[in-house]
Amino acid sequence: MKIARLTVYQVDLPLEHPYWLSGGRLKFEVLDATLVKMETDAGLIGWGEGTPWGHTYVPAHGPGIRAGIETMAPFVLGLDPRKVLEVERAMDLALPGHLYAKAPLDMACWDIAGQAAGLPIADLMGGGSRTPRPIASSVGAKTVDETREVIARYRARGYVAHSVKIGGDAERDIARIRDVEAIRRSDERVLYDVNRGWTRQQALRVMRAVEDLHVMVEQPCETLDDIAALAGKHATPVSVDESLVTLQDAARIARDGLAEVFGIKLNRVGGLTKAARMRDIALAHGIDMFVMATGGSVLADTEALHLAATIPDAHCLGVWACQDMITAEIAGGRGPRNVDGHLHLPEAPGLGVHPDEAALGAPAAVHS
Ligand code: MG
Repeated sequence: MKIARLTVYQVDLPLEHPYWLSGGRLKFEVLDATLVKMETDAGLIGWGEGTPWGHTYVPAHGPGIRAGIETMAPFVLGLDPRKVLEVERAMDLALPGHLYAKAPLDMACWDIAGQAAGLPIADLMGGGSRTPRPIASSVGAKTVDETREVIARYRARGYVAHSVKIGGDAERDIARIRDVEAIRRSDERVLYDVNRGWTRQQALRVMRAVEDLHVMVEQPCETLDDIAALAGKHATPVSVDESLVTLQDAARIARDGLAEVFGIKLNRVGGLTKAARMRDIALAHGIDMFVMATGGSVLADTEALHLAATIPDAHCLGVWACQDMITAEIAGGRGPRNVDGHLHLPEAPGLGVHPDEAALGAPAAVHS
């Protein structure tokens, strides 16, 4: 089986509500999505998606995905998509770095490999749990009152996990954490996501001030060096996501004890093939995981769900469904959707959901 053609689509995914991160430093209103249709000479078709969270969040650029695919296409066309490691090496040789541009091609390969094997991707990867995965909400940086409002909105949709965005002002953050913990139900899990919004001294101030609450803080500072500098000076568990990009990052975090939780973002780390290695490093070091698309449609959410299903239930803290934050619908309502705050693994072979091609408009590029 050979990859015969790559058809690339660009789609704007508007957010239902404007969204701020990092203490209001970064605002987002629309996501630039790239959808890739991978056709084979055997008639099987796979789909991949790459949707960075805007281009000011981290070094990942929507148009860069399409440029990267143009560069990598000649090296990928003609390969067997079921041999995901060969496709991975071809992409890494053709374009060092730029992991986010490789993720949609990797995803399409896994989709085809699953269809060829007659198995959902998670089962092809070794076996997927059917325990529904809780969806973490995304509560944008707000005041105490607005934070309560947004949490109430997600609770009404059944959510039992929340990612509350903090950062920027230490005293306000302490107040918001204390307020959310006061209203948190016993069955709810809350992650306080700083999105790199604290300096080291701000991080120490907040993480020491809330030690009695035993909350989890995500990505408190900009870099792993910053997070390492805080280690041992506070008793608050840490999750890392923006600084978890390469396998070397994962190895350093595990070896040096920089975090208790990995937030694996599939687009950021370069797709399922590379993310599966991070999962294994985490499991080998007693590190629990959230698995998320960086952003995107139900396709990206489904890819994350497949990886999450390959993590033992006790070590998978949840997934994220960006689909609940965007107003565009590209798959006609198909695929895993929020059911009482959880996503259920699809049983169809491969990814388990494809877009309506007519909803994607004219292709941005065709490589064959
Ligand atoms: Mg995060």
